[in-house]
Amino acid sequence: MSNPFRQLPAVNELLHLAQSHPLGQTLPRRHLLAATRRQLDVLRTTLRNADTTAVVWTLETLVESVCTDAFAASQPKLRTVINATGIILHTNLGRAPMAEAAAKAVYDAARNYVNLELDLATGERSSRQKLVRSALCELTGAPSATVVNNCAAATVMVLRAVAPGKEVIVSRGELIEIGGSFRLPDIMASSGAILKEVGTTNITRLRDYERAIGPNTAAILRVHTSNYRIRGFTDSVPIADLVALGHAHNLCVIDDVGSGRAFDLAQLAGSDEPDIRTGIGAGADLVIFSGDKLLGGPQAGIIAGQAKWIQAIESDPFMRAVRTDKLTLAALLATLELHADPELAWQTVPVLRMLREPLESLRSRATAFAERLREQLPNTSIEVMEQPAFAGGGTLPDTPLASIVVVLTPQCQSLSGFAAKLRTASPAVLARIHDGRILFDLRTVLTEQEPQLEAAIVALESSRL
Ligand SMILES: *Cc1c(COP(=O)(O)O)cnc(C)c1O
Repeated sequence: MSNPFRQLPAVNELLHLAQSHPLGQTLPRRHLLAATRRQLDVLRTTLRNADTTAVVWTLETLVESVCTDAFAASQPKLRTVINATGIILHTNLGRAPMAEAAAKAVYDAARNYVNLELDLATGERSSRQKLVRSALCELTGAPSATVVNNCAAATVMVLRAVAPGKEVIVSRGELIEIGGSFRLPDIMASSGAILKEVGTTNITRLRDYERAIGPNTAAILRVHTSNYRIRGFTDSVPIADLVALGHAHNLCVIDDVGSGRAFDLAQLAGSDEPDIRTGIGAGADLVIFSGDKLLGGPQAGIIAGQAKWIQAIESDPFMRAVRTDKLTLAALLATLELHADPELAWQTVPVLRMLREPLESLRSRATAFAERLREQLPNTSIEVMEQPAFAGGGTLPDTPLASIVVVLTPQCQSLSGFAAKLRTASPAVLARIHDGRILFDLRTVLTEQEPQLEAAIVALESSRL
């Protein structure tokens, strides 16, 4: 019997064949070379571990796998995903897709030099935080404000400035975890502040806070329970009462509102998401929230409040480690500009448009979409039905939004196989699997993405018919 390893082509030979393959011709040599080596390795390992007579390969299949492998490797690592899950702020999908104006601002800032730390009027050095301060003050109603990389960094910076080595009182009902790495007790420990828990999971009263105040207390922190709600026999203390208590004892009162709601949510019945102005209005010294949740902007942590605390935060050497770059600032400034006119924000900030899109508009989009699919896939079951959508990203956790989905039952392939192929399509598509069917919620699909979504579904479903 001949040695099966002897029959393997040499790297150069296989590479050459791959380079003349129709797919291979479109791919850079370095990807083809790496894929050639990988596929030869795979084949060698298979030959070594298996009964070699059972391993079937031909030069054609080998070239084919080299090209497929090289194609996959040449795809951008960070790719566009069509979000058909109906979850508006999907943290794994990068939370808020940005407004056109914000995206343009990012592009311009990326391609050019900008006055990031230069006062153009005087020619003097300036600070990047100064660029956004007035817009943030206008948004929040606070006397001063600054920005860092995310709300977790905002929490750390605030605690470092307000309570180094000192106690910060927090209700036991508010010791949140936001997706894995953000756990309030851990964040607090890493900032050097000492957590002083008060009350119980469901009930914390003003006198619980009052009794906990001692000579080493520096602050009271109220944390919005973004991604959960405690219902039933519950009590918590309104921020205004915490402010009155805190100020009577010379304590700093901090309000972590998390989601950064800057607009009227009246249209979303049952929502109890706090407004970013409430805390400042009630006299809180510092309010913090994320830029990429309900604000619909870039990842950022906004800190608004008393000028003396903002100054203390900005002069902390650690500020350098969490400062935002020019791209974030460009996106944030453009997003804030849209928020300055609430109606404009509702129309142009994608997250807000998605939150507000009426059921009837979604129904007509979904009906037309399903009709187009049925024309091309006459043998596939395609329906339209009501199913809730969610804000996601740890906001409005128990406020489902009435929504409409297009429901498809793949004909000839498994549901998980179909979903996996959608995920690896280009652009990638993320849908929902429910009750043995696949659901597409157009609420989170941008109108201009509908033709691509349609093409991806049709290509996959008809490929097996
Ligand atoms: C989301 C959230 C955070 C963390 O914000 P990131 O911007 O993700 O770092 C902190 N606190 C609350 C209340 C939140 O909702």
